[in-house]
Amino acid sequence: MKSTDVIIGGGGMVGLSLAIALAKGGLDVVVADPVPQSAATDAKFDGRVCALSYASVRMFQALGIWPHLEKDAQPINDILVTDSRLNGEPSPFSLHFDAAEAHAAALGHIVENRHTRSGLFAVASALPNLRLVAPAALTDLKLEGAGIVATLANGETVKAKLAIAADGRESPMRELMGLGVVSWSYAQWGIVATVEHEKPHNGVAYEHFLPAGPFAILPMTGNRSSLVWTERDSIAPLMMQLDAPGFDAQIARRFGSHLGKAKAAGPRWSYPLNFHLARGYVKPRFALAGDSAHGIHPIAGQGFNLGLKDAAALSEIILDAARLGLDIGNLAVLKKYERWRRFDSLVMSFAMDGLNRLFSNDIAPLRVLRDVGMGIVDAVGPARRFFMRHAGGDVGKLPRLMKGEAA
Ligand SMILES: Cc1cc2nc3c(=O)[nH]c(=O)nc-3n(C[C@H](O)[C@H](O)[C@H](O)COP(=O)(O)OP(=O)(O)OC[C@H]3O[C@@H](n4cnc5c(N)ncnc54)[C@H](O)[C@@H]3O)c2cc1C
Repeated sequence: MKSTDVIIGGGGMVGLSLAIALAKGGLDVVVADPVPQSAATDAKFDGRVCALSYASVRMFQALGIWPHLEKDAQPINDILVTDSRLNGEPSPFSLHFDAAEAHAAALGHIVENRHTRSGLFAVASALPNLRLVAPAALTDLKLEGAGIVATLANGETVKAKLAIAADGRESPMRELMGLGVVSWSYAQWGIVATVEHEKPHNGVAYEHFLPAGPFAILPMTGNRSSLVWTERDSIAPLMMQLDAPGFDAQIARRFGSHLGKAKAAGPRWSYPLNFHLARGYVKPRFALAGDSAHGIHPIAGQGFNLGLKDAAALSEIILDAARLGLDIGNLAVLKKYERWRRFDSLVMSFAMDGLNRLFSNDIAPLRVLRDVGMGIVDAVGPARRFFMRHAGGDVGKLPRLMKGEAA
């Protein structure tokens, strides 16, 4: 049996970021994932992008990951939010956020998940105390003496002081350790596609609130944008089955003409949207991070940013404990992480849930309420700046990595 300080189940974007932070802090880390690296970085594996907040970018800079992503990152200069009807004129109230007002070079950066994964793999492979075992799912976890023993699908067993689940929404490890979740479905799907258009986007991100849900147009490098199109679950499968001209025609109805002619390039993806929040984040020698702990609506592109904040906070608490000579798997140490992150995730999850409920409908009184609300926020500088600080991740108690400092 091999031993290590920390074993992480899940080498996705959160698991690898956490592993890099811990390894750079001097701990031995093993990461297991059923998906081989070559598949995880393939363009067909995941067509999504993430809008990285500036707090997330500072964390990637502090960990030496950002230089690997920078050339493929599209700065967001402006965000325009409108409330529209399908084929109809947008409401006269809209919201405009711009980087100059936030005194920032950009409101965030859009990076394709495959580039983020490649950057994370490049940094991880250069760390001698970080071992990535893939393909190999983590299949069992057992507390044993002063440690926890993980069994991997390749037959390996690893004894660690602490096991962390970063294994996504379904989180087999969360199930193994008996941590329950509160969850519900949004009866919506997120359709994702890359669109090529005639005119430059100038770094503007658009969010059109349509009756079926938000339709986001996120600027990518070149004359390309990524669509995150929220659609009712009764309609989304029909959209996914359309041929290319039919799909482009549906995009045109929602996209508008501001970027000239637009057409989908490459594959489309769809994701059922649901909410979940783990009832607890820790057990003795065990912790959850990222989507294993919480799954939120992508309405404001905050899921990965939230997961990165988990990784930053958890690595800080573990490294501080290790430096003091404490047992990093001790429940009292891990409870500090749960107190720090669970409430923050709960607030963000419910805020996204509420926004989605407020905007994903065509009920007249609600339409008036939200349009007036948007008009007020747009007219009042401090209110606009409050929302920009939240979107940028600069709120609450920030972990050191998110301030750009070492973990
Ligand atoms: C349509 C859509 C758009 C989004 N847009 C944004 C955005 O703009 N900004 C943003 O911040 N977030 C966004 N998100 C959310 C973001 O994609 C997720 O929050 C993020 O990918 C979660 O990362 P993770 O590493 O926690 O989980 P995952 O990416 O799910 O990774 C989990 C990993 O665990 C592995 N695994 C599974 N089972 C096991 C096992 N038994 N043993 C070991 N490993 C295992 C998997 O192979 C995978 O590699 C969006 C989500 C959706 C659905």
